[in-house]
Amino acid sequence: MTDAIDPPLDDDGRIDLAALRMGSGEGRRIAVRIDLDALTLSEDRYDTALADDPARLDVSRMLGGGYAMRLRFDATISGPCMRCLQPTSAGVRVDSRELDERSGDAQLDSPYVDGDALDVTRWANDGLVLALPARVLCREDCRGLCPECGVDLNAETGHEHAPARDPRWSALGDLRFDDDGRLVDGG
Ligand SMILES: [Zn+2]
Ligand SMILES: [Zn+2]
Repeated sequence: MTDAIDPPLDDDGRIDLAALRMGSGEGRRIAVRIDLDALTLSEDRYDTALADDPARLDVSRMLGGGYAMRLRFDATISGPCMRCLQPTSAGVRVDSRELDERSGDAQLDSPYVDGDALDVTRWANDGLVLALPARVLCREDCRGLCPECGVDLNAETGHEHAPARDPRWSALGDLRFDDDGRLVDGG
């Protein structure tokens, strides 16, 4: 690895890999400043940001041509807790690898590399989505909202409602039985 460099991204958020002027077998660690897009999850908006700016991109030029790449960064995602709706944020660690073998085989060529342009911005945003936690919660044991009245159960400990009586049983409550278990007419 040589010293970190910080090449400017083009207007589309891409890096020109050819500008790194790497020979076969050479590697570079590059600091990149990436714009992360806001996300929509369960119809709510979540803002995203790099937690440790800049991101780290390792690029090595393979002996047969092409590139092996690894992108790492920590991000935060901020928005409503998926249980109680209070604003919260969660850390996301992204560690993603890509290979571009220049084989002409789409299976082996990175979807983020076009010619010598690496679309590091799209890669980072896709990598973030893949690394998201299953749920964004204010805390692991968030108690959420009361399903009956919507009160925040984290704020109101011991909150409960009198058990509702099912109206279908009320007619049965009017029936009377004698000592032998026979229905008594009229009650
Ligand atoms: Zn919560
Ligand atoms: Zn309630």
